[in-house]
Amino acid sequence: MFEVIVLGSSGGPFETQTQCFLVRLNNCNNNDSNNDEYISFDGGCGLNAIAKLFTVENKTYTPEIDLYCTTTTNTSKMMDLITDKSVNVILKSPDIKTSQNSNILSKTLQFYGKINKFFITHAHLDHISGFIINTPILYDQLYNDLNQHTTNMQKTLYGLETTVRPITENIFNCKIWPNLLAIKTNSGDAKISSEILIPGKEYVLSSSLRKNDAYSIVTLPLRHGTSITTGEIVFSSVYILFNHLSSEMLFVFGDCESDPTYLNQVWEYATSKTSFKIKGIFIECSMPDDPSAINDPNDPNNGAELYGHMSPYYLICELEKLIRKIQSKGNTPFILNIFITHVKQNTLAMATSNTDNYSYNPKLLILEQLKCNARKRKLDKILKFSILMNDYTYYV
Ligand SMILES: [Zn+2]
Ligand SMILES: [Zn+2]
Repeated sequence: MFEVIVLGSSGGPFETQTQCFLVRLNNCNNNDSNNDEYISFDGGCGLNAIAKLFTVENKTYTPEIDLYCTTTTNTSKMMDLITDKSVNVILKSPDIKTSQNSNILSKTLQFYGKINKFFITHAHLDHISGFIINTPILYDQLYNDLNQHTTNMQKTLYGLETTVRPITENIFNCKIWPNLLAIKTNSGDAKISSEILIPGKEYVLSSSLRKNDAYSIVTLPLRHGTSITTGEIVFSSVYILFNHLSSEMLFVFGDCESDPTYLNQVWEYATSKTSFKIKGIFIECSMPDDPSAINDPNDPNNGAELYGHMSPYYLICELEKLIRKIQSKGNTPFILNIFITHVKQNTLAMATSNTDNYSYNPKLLILEQLKCNARKRKLDKILKFSILMNDYTYYV
């Protein structure tokens, strides 16, 4: 099982809580959960979203604003509508041991100290902005005092070359943001470092706390549209997290579009790992289907209206490819739990839906269209969809 805290699952244009997921890595040598670490997939948000989680037990907690609801918002009713019945999800503060009079700031900083590896899918702002703006906290006295017993205080940004280079060269360049990667501490290390990952190579997530290396990670490139200035492919990536003790794997996708090359390689890879069970696929579906769109795989302008993203029609086409590959390897029945992220707060949903309050909401419209497309292809017994909600912890 994987524990995933959805700090942010928005694809914008509203700037709050854009994509960022925390996955807990259990410390296998010790039952003390206070020693658990977390890895971050993307960094579209960070400290503010964590602080919000520590208000869950207080009366001050405010759920995500339902921009599309014209009557009183009811978050738990919304959760029931957008979460598959089989999924275990709760709203809670992160498990950390704190002294009784800790305030939200110190709890937030203590928890942030447990997140040291950031796996970024691509360098678009909605996937990195929180991480960047949070970086000065690493030089803060309270942050350092609270985390002085942590063995690894360095934050590392990981990604393919197409992700890491734009961040190190175009953001940490003292023009957009101070070059904190160049500042060395007394021990000679920087507080932030970056590491370029090789596509398809498996990296062990080692830890001083986990002597048996239970977790490893692999990244593969994805196609995310073409540059409007150069016509070149804009690359994104997917991460595959393996738990070797439970033989389970989790897929976390960056933004992507349907394409016959890169996604096909991901599906090939997924089906080659026959000894691992796919526990969840976190993947984008940014926009609802546009009824006026072409939706013809043979048309060269197919999907052009999505600007490198997915809509339900295309996502189901891609998931069908994965299902056929799995089925070609054996007849065992299986279920795929699909977690939808990056839904945009656009107005297309309003333009194409009827007048029912809930169908204005792109999350609900996308879910309906996903189920409808899955039914048409007789995949509704296999594909189980949940649309991610910010602040919730998913047990996958
Ligand atoms: Zn994005
Ligand atoms: Zn993007």
